[in-house]
This record gives sequence, structure tokens and C-alpha cells, in this order.
Amino acid sequence: MPDTPTEAEFEKQALEFLEANAEPRVEVTRAWGEGSDDVSVLPERTAEEELAELEAARAWAAKRFDAGFGWITGPPEYGGRGLPRSYQRIYDSLESRFATPPQTLFGIGLGMVAPTILAHGTEEVKDRYLKALWRGDIVACQLFSEPGAGSDLAGLQTRAVRDGDEWVVTGQKVWTSGAHLSDIGEIICRTDPDLPKHKGLTGFVVDMHAPGVEVRPLRQMTGGASFNEVFFTEVRVPDSHRLGDVNGGWTVALTTLMNERAAIGGGMASGGGGMGTQRLIELIRHQGRAGDPAIRQQIAEIVVNGRVASYTNMRAMAKIAAGQLPGPEMSIAKLSLTMNMRRMADLLSSVLGPKLVADSGEWGTYAWAQFVLGVPGMRIAGGSDEILHNIIGERVLGLPKEPSPETSGSRA
Ligand SMILES: Cc1cc2nc3c(=O)[nH]c(=O)nc-3n(C[C@H](O)[C@H](O)[C@H](O)COP(=O)(O)OP(=O)(O)OC[C@H]3O[C@@H](n4cnc5c(N)ncnc54)[C@H](O)[C@@H]3O)c2cc1C
Repeated sequence: MPDTPTEAEFEKQALEFLEANAEPRVEVTRAWGEGSDDVSVLPERTAEEELAELEAARAWAAKRFDAGFGWITGPPEYGGRGLPRSYQRIYDSLESRFATPPQTLFGIGLGMVAPTILAHGTEEVKDRYLKALWRGDIVACQLFSEPGAGSDLAGLQTRAVRDGDEWVVTGQKVWTSGAHLSDIGEIICRTDPDLPKHKGLTGFVVDMHAPGVEVRPLRQMTGGASFNEVFFTEVRVPDSHRLGDVNGGWTVALTTLMNERAAIGGGMASGGGGMGTQRLIELIRHQGRAGDPAIRQQIAEIVVNGRVASYTNMRAMAKIAAGQLPGPEMSIAKLSLTMNMRRMADLLSSVLGPKLVADSGEWGTYAWAQFVLGVPGMRIAGGSDEILHNIIGERVLGLPKEPSPETSGSRA
């Protein structure tokens, strides 16, 4: 295949690849009571189900990459095709018409870690990991939060001490999504405790299979265990695996955080905006509450706010796609999507009452428990609602800063 096809040639090649390797997606209109009633967020899955999902995701990622559609916009020197973003949009729109394995488990690696490696990694790290990440050969996680440092990320305490050409990392991270499946992690460590807190940090790529790395699963209230605590005991990291400058880790972290909010907002634009809204309306009809004016009012609010949040998010995505830095749209979109999820959870709780928490066997009722229990996690991950309110208050509305000496180190 020529390296720089025209858009029309590219579209033809992509369609040929998809038709040869995937089945067309069939949109099924389900009647009430038919098919899966899974409406979960952060779902409960067994380890076997998760591994099977990873295997299927890997097989598809490798096939797509090898055919030249895996990293369409990436620099050719690291395995990408070097084509403009318009080609990626063409491919995405075509692939959405086919039933392909979900790539969710690669979300953090591709959405946050890979862009940070590309921006701040050494040649060795870029060569070694970028293609492998995009081909699905390896999975990556984000090792930022600690028991004493979440919103106040710059307060983190995991230490990295230089020893010749290596660094020795000791400390604890927490809430690390997907660490149990990961091969590498992006870690931010304290490298100079004498500097102001956000100036003494350095980023690294750490091998999650290295001696001294211990991953322990954390069970969340949905029943799933998608995140972990990770302990580092004198883990040796080569200096070549450093991201950015020594003590320049705050800049590295900001690159990742900007991409994190985009990834969460992007994932939810197709979800939070319209997530389960139709199912919610069906549920209310089947509970005999569709004529209740107060409920109709709440549904209208959910639909309207969901739409507005999705459009705000699409504006942020368009800015990123055009190579610009997204502004406050990213925070506003994430906040409004999670606020809408909370509205849905409140409405569900009042309509379903005890059926939400006790499995009566009635189709499509108890299943919502996982949605309702997953919403608080979405309101915390990637910048909590309160932190996003602060950003909007201070940076968009120009209100006075919070009276805190610590704000310079905030995850915001
Ligand atoms: C589903 C999920 C997945 C996650 N995945 C990862 C991951 O892969 N990697 C990773 O590193 N981390 C991950 N996290 C952790 C996440 O980044 C942190 O939970 C988040 O930054 C909040 O930090 P904290 O939990 O320490 O809460 P804290 O920062 O201690 O906050 C506690 C409460 O205080 C409020 N608060 C804190 N500061 C302020 C302030 N200045 N003004 C007003 N209110 C404030 C917060 O909003 C919150 O309600 C994940 C979290 C969730 C829920």
C-alpha cells in the first residue's frame, strides 16, 4: 500500500480491510425484556472475563496495526503512518460500522501514557514502547495517585533516588486502573524533597514486571476490581526511562492529565450524553410512571443536559484534533456529563426504590444498581467535581482563588 494515499484511496483500502476482517455491525432494536440488561459503569467482571476481553482486544489491535490502520497519525519513525487526522476520522467512521472487539483496556495506555511518551520520552523509550502500545502488544497504566495525594497530586511522596545510570523507586500508589494487566506504567516520583513540592518531581516509565513491584487489587462498590494499589520497593528504573527533565515531572504530569480529561470526556461523549437515556425512558414507561409530570420534567432535563454536555465535549475534541490546546471546555464537559449521570442515578433511585438494591428477578431493574454505584467513581476520576468547579470558578469566571497555600500543586 502506498505510504501517502489520497483520502479516497485510503477509504477504499480501509473498507476492504474491514470487510475482510470484521462483520458489519447490526443494530438491533430490542423490545423491553429482550437481550442483555447491562447498563453498568465500572462493571463487575471476573478475571477470566477480563483476560478474554484483553486477548480479543489484542488480536484486533495487532491485525489493524499490521494492516496500517492502527496508528494512522503517528510519526512513521515510531511505527505510525504519518497521515493527517482527517484519515483517522475516515477510519473511525468506517470501523464504527463493524462489530470489532472493544479496545477499552488500552484506553489509559493510548489515551494518556503514549501521548506523554511521545512528548517527553527518550528515543529509546519511544522506540521500545510506542509501537508496542499501539499494536496492543503491551498495556500501560497511570501511577499518579497516592494515599496522601489525589487532587493535591504534587504532594506525592513516592521517592526516586539516583544511583548511577539508574533510579531507585520506593513508595505506594493507589487507584491505579488496570495495573494488574499492565506491562509498563507512567510514574511520577519525588526526586528532590527540598524543592517546592511541584518542582521536585520527575516522571518515568516503569516496568510493571520488575522486581519490587507488587500489585494488589482493590474491590470497588460495584463489585468489580478494575483498580489497584501498587507498592514499589527499591525498584530500579534506568535513567533512559526518565520522562522529561529531572525535577520537570510536573510538566510531564500535566501532559498526561490534559489527555486524561479528554479521554474520559471522549469516552463519555458517546456514553454520558446518551448513556442509557433511551433505556431509562423505557424503564419509566414499564414502571407505569411515564405520565408523572415531575418525572417527565426530570427526563427532559437529563436529555437536554446530556446533549449540551456532548456538544461541549465534541468542541474540546475538535480543538485537540486541530492540534490546539483545549481550554475550559474539557472541565465543563466532564463536569456536566458527571452531573447528568448523577441526575439519572437520582431519578432511577426514586423510580425503582427497593428494586434497585434487591434482585426481584424483574428484567431491567436491579441491573441499574451497577450504574448507580459506578457514578460516584466517575465523579472523582480525572479531576473530582469539586476540583472542576474550582477550575471553572477561577479560570473561566475569574473568581478569586481559593484561600489555600497549596493550590499551585493541585491536580487541577
Ligand atoms: C474510577 C477511578 C479510576 C482511577 N484511576 C486512576 C489511575 O489509573 N491512576 C491514578 O493515578 N489515579 C486514579 N484514580 C484516582 C483519582 O485520580 C483520585 O481519586 C482523584 O484525583 C481524587 O483524589 P483522592 O481520591 O485522593 O481524593 P482527595 O483529593 O483526598 O479528595 C477528597 C475529597 O475532597 C475534595 N477536595 C480535594 N481538594 C479540594 C479542593 N481544593 N477544593 C474543594 N474540594 C476538594 C475532593 O473533590 C473529594 O471530594 C482513579 C479514581 C477513580 C474513581
